Formats: sequence, structure tokens, C-alpha cells
Amino acid sequence: MGNRPSRWYAPLGFWLRTIAIMVATVWFEWQWATTGWWVWGALVGWMHAFIGLAVQHDASHGALSKSPAVNAFFSYGADWIGNSRWLWMQQHVIGHHPHTNIEGHDPDAHSAEPVLLFHSYDKADSPRRGFHAWQWLYMFLVLPWYGPSLVADYKQLAHMRHGDEVPPNPWTRTQRPLAVATRLWYIGRICLAPIVLGGASIASGLLLVPLVAGGILTFVFVVSHNFEGSDRFPTMTKGDSVDWYKLQVRARVLLQCATAGRCKRGGLYVTRVSCAQVETSCTYGGWWAMFWSGGLNLQIEHHLFPRLSSWYASILVPTPRIALLLYAHPRTGTTRKSHRWYRKSARSTA
Ligand SMILES: [Zn+2]
Repeated sequence: MGNRPSRWYAPLGFWLRTIAIMVATVWFEWQWATTGWWVWGALVGWMHAFIGLAVQHDASHGALSKSPAVNAFFSYGADWIGNSRWLWMQQHVIGHHPHTNIEGHDPDAHSAEPVLLFHSYDKADSPRRGFHAWQWLYMFLVLPWYGPSLVADYKQLAHMRHGDEVPPNPWTRTQRPLAVATRLWYIGRICLAPIVLGGASIASGLLLVPLVAGGILTFVFVVSHNFEGSDRFPTMTKGDSVDWYKLQVRARVLLQCATAGRCKRGGLYVTRVSCAQVETSCTYGGWWAMFWSGGLNLQIEHHLFPRLSSWYASILVPTPRIALLLYAHPRTGTTRKSHRWYRKSARSTA
């Protein structure tokens, strides 16, 4: 990778994919608005999910370009698909990333409650009910509603605040007029135009695109931090204050330590101190999965290097010393297995 800053940002392939997404989005949206045919609507939903996964996510992290203006412009992709750049910033960059899987701080940890539970609560205060035993099945019917519920969430827009996890911010409220205007623009071209101009039914006009986009987005995002063996209490003790050192600094220090070769026999050490960002995230697939998911398949790499272009995240995977650390827990599934795997890998690459 080197230390050249330009290699951190989106390369040519990323931009070509972005142009293809933009052209396809405009074409599909035009067809959907003028014909009202559900196939065009489904394709629009797919492109909107693609914008969320592969364009605005990187842009919101400042990973597209060295230029803040370029990152800011493409961050408004969130507004184009029915969300808001600033609400996404609160939910994802401020809430989710530093506090992954910490109930009460990570908005994603409980956003589907009480219908779906991702968190493993203690028995005393658990909101778990009998029907949750079937959530592995009905989740596929529930998750797509993330899209329509987000588009219709005027409370968030009115206050320009995603939720209680992030404190109120007077400056963010100054962005409300633009956020409201872009939301109305979304409703006009995606929901109303197909009904008025294309003859689509009211139900499909209002729901089809956000349901498809919401389904794709949530299916991909949910896998990233909810899997067998994922750490549900990265602060170690429930109720404790958040250990910022453990969440951020230690993970990076250990990564540097491992890459610099100072952890020659340090497998047990690394796994014992448990890097929260690593243990709450998972990585699967390779380059093609990165291409179609916008790098959401490489969450361990993304959470350790959020400003690295998702296009490059797959390059980190084969680097042995980084791989030692990145894959220590989630890939192998259990702590014991990861101890054995890590020790073996540490010896073979020391
Ligand atoms: Zn992210």
C-alpha cells in the first residue's frame, strides 16, 4: 500500500463503477416514473441500495477523495435515496463505528426492536418474547421495511437528529431546509411520479422502491456485525462506561505491533486483549463480493481503516501479519479455535 495518501482513496475502477451506477439510476428512475412498471421500480431499488453501499458510505467516511468537497457531494447520495447525509453521519459514523454492538450507543444494535432482537440481553431485563424464536425466518419480511420507515420518519427530519445516542447539534439543524427539500424531491420522483405519470398503483408507488432498497441494504449490513461468535458486549461488562481505549487505540496499537513483527509469539496476548472493532465485525468473500456490496463484506478491515477506500480493503486480506489479527476471532467462530489458529499462524509467519 505504501504511505502515499492517494492510494487510500477511490481508484479508477471505483469511479467507473460509480458512473455506471449513476447512469443506471437515472435511466431506471426515468422508466419507473413514466411507465410505472414494477420491474423498473425494483431496479431503481437495487440501484439505490448500490448508492448506499458503494458510493455514499465511502463518501461519508471521507474515503472517496482527498477533497472534502468531493466527499461532501457524494455523501448527498444518502439524500438521493431517501435518507439524509447528516442523519446517516449521526447513525453510522458517530454512533455505529466507535461503539459497534454496544447496546445504548450503537443505533444499529437495537434499531429493529422489539420485532427483531440482535442483542443478547441478560435474562432480567430481556425484551425477548416467544415469537423471537422465529426471527431467523420472519426477519426477511421485516428488514425491508427499514426503507419505507426511514423515508417516512419526519420526526428525525424535523429535529435533524437520528436518536438519543447522539446529542442535539444546533449546526445540524441549519441543514434542515436542504434535507427537507431533498426528501420532497425523493417522494416526488420516486413515489408520486410513477403513480401520476406511469399509472402505478398507490401501494407500489409508495412502497416498492424503498422496500427493495431497504431489503438489500439491511440484509448486507446486518450480516456484518451479527454472526455466530460476534462480540455482543465489547465493553466486557454490561453497564460499564465505554472503554474508548479498548475500542479504538488498543486495536490500532496491536495492529501496528503485529505488522511490525513485535508480537512474534504474541498470539495469546493479542487474542486475550480482544480488539473490540475486530471482534464485533466479520469478513467474508473476496473481490467480487467487495464489488457488489461496496466492501460491506470486509467489515473488519473497514472498521480498522474506515477512511481507506473500500476498493482497497480486499488488498489487506492476504497480508499475513494483518490477517493474523483481522481473522483471529470472527472468521474462525470460537475463541478456542481462534487461539489455536492464531498461534499456528503466528509461528508460521514469525
Ligand atoms: Zn462504515
